Amino acid sequence: MIKLINSEEFSYFLRINRNEIIKRWMAKNEVQNVLHRHSLPIIEKNTYLFYEFCDCYISVIEWRATVSECQVKIDFLQLLNNYNITTADLFTLINKLKNAIEEVIFENGNLSFALQNEIDSLTLQMANDLAINFDIITSNNQSYKSENSNLLAEYKKAVDLSNIVSKTNSKGVITYVNDKFCEISGYSRDELVGKPHNIIRHPDMPREAFKDLWDTIKAKKSWNGIVTNMKKEGGQYIVDTTVIPILDVDGDVVEYIAIRHDITELEETKQQLRNINKAMKNKVDELYSMTNTLEQKAFKDNLTGINNRENFEDMFSIEIVNAKLNDQALSLIIFDIDNFKLVNDTYGHQAGDIILKDLVALIENNIKHGDIFARWGGEEFVILTPSTDINGTYNLAENLKKLVQLHHFNYVEDNLTLSFGIAQLSAEDTKRSLFEKADKALYEAKKNGRNRTEIYNA
Ligand code: GH3
Ligand code: MG
Ligand code: MG
Repeated sequence: MIKLINSEEFSYFLRINRNEIIKRWMAKNEVQNVLHRHSLPIIEKNTYLFYEFCDCYISVIEWRATVSECQVKIDFLQLLNNYNITTADLFTLINKLKNAIEEVIFENGNLSFALQNEIDSLTLQMANDLAINFDIITSNNQSYKSENSNLLAEYKKAVDLSNIVSKTNSKGVITYVNDKFCEISGYSRDELVGKPHNIIRHPDMPREAFKDLWDTIKAKKSWNGIVTNMKKEGGQYIVDTTVIPILDVDGDVVEYIAIRHDITELEETKQQLRNINKAMKNKVDELYSMTNTLEQKAFKDNLTGINNRENFEDMFSIEIVNAKLNDQALSLIIFDIDNFKLVNDTYGHQAGDIILKDLVALIENNIKHGDIFARWGGEEFVILTPSTDINGTYNLAENLKKLVQLHHFNYVEDNLTLSFGIAQLSAEDTKRSLFEKADKALYEAKKNGRNRTEIYNA
């Protein structure tokens, strides 16, 4: 005795007992009555159709296919229609087929309760499905409808060839997948049918995307969108997906059909382009900031960040022209740290660098906005003071001298002092001559004991 548990075992059983089932089916009184009443001769061709019809039934069980997917049913229904068989007769024929199957099963074993239920509901669905098709065939515009059905079958074939197609029941359990679906997902049909559709869900897909999908199709509307799915062996494929809810005569959703196009390559190319664009934008930004720093470097002293000598010389030229044109005062300060070599020798060159930076910050914070401050070189600096005569400049130098003298710098124990040389631009002065005057004054300041300001004196 065997016990058939699942539809796989059941369909296998049907296949091997097919001859016996059909023999019993056609021998049944009710079936004979229908055939006799309508003078339907059991000639070879007609018997063949019963076989085909039985195969259609097996396919429905085996693949969860719908009746529409079995071409033979059109021929079978056409045959019945030719002999004016009624819809009620049709139900009798289907019911008797089921009885014949059950008889053969019970002689050899039995069915699980769950499988029995499944077969009952599938048979009922099949009978309804057939009745609807039968009604179409028996209606007046019979040939048109029949052609239309053929057209539909052709259309379905075309859709199957170029699309990834699946069907699920109203609960999202897969009931059908075509070859393309298996091919792209890497699953076999057996691994998919009967499983919830989220078996191919990609973890990266946001939940909201599916919420929108379900909200739409539950509202009996078609949904379209781009979905990333996961292959059996990992990896993803991207599909442009349309999900269509299929309604029964009462308007209830019975199943969903999903039709997809593989757009993985397209989407990946798009992503690559986006990445390239982003990388290019980053490169451009990088170039901009490099140019900026290069430009800055050309004008600024590396260590202290204030104007370098080249930049100062340019500004110096402009200020001299300005002062002469507008008949305004212009003065120059040159200052130098006293005994800085000693600082380096005592505390190291690095400490010396830090002191230079701190000194620059201190001076910068204590000069006017229009004053031009620059590092001339080493520990020698210049300040150009537009619109300021020698007295104002002297006061500035003296203030800075005191400020530095009182300031405590890190790393050095003793306080630093500066020596200043200053000069005011006269009518006959050039850039060079004014500089030489201030430099001479600085020399005097050093000579006269350091930590002091000297005004150039011819
Ligand atoms: P004085 O000016 O009072 O005559 O004596 P000084 O020891 O300061 O002599 P001078 O101005 O000739 O010495 C310049 C020294 O400054 C030489 C060098 O050790 C130091 N110096 C110049 N540029 C830098 C720098 O960028 N970093 C550091 N740490 N030291 C520098
Ligand atoms: Mg010096
Ligand atoms: Mg010095």
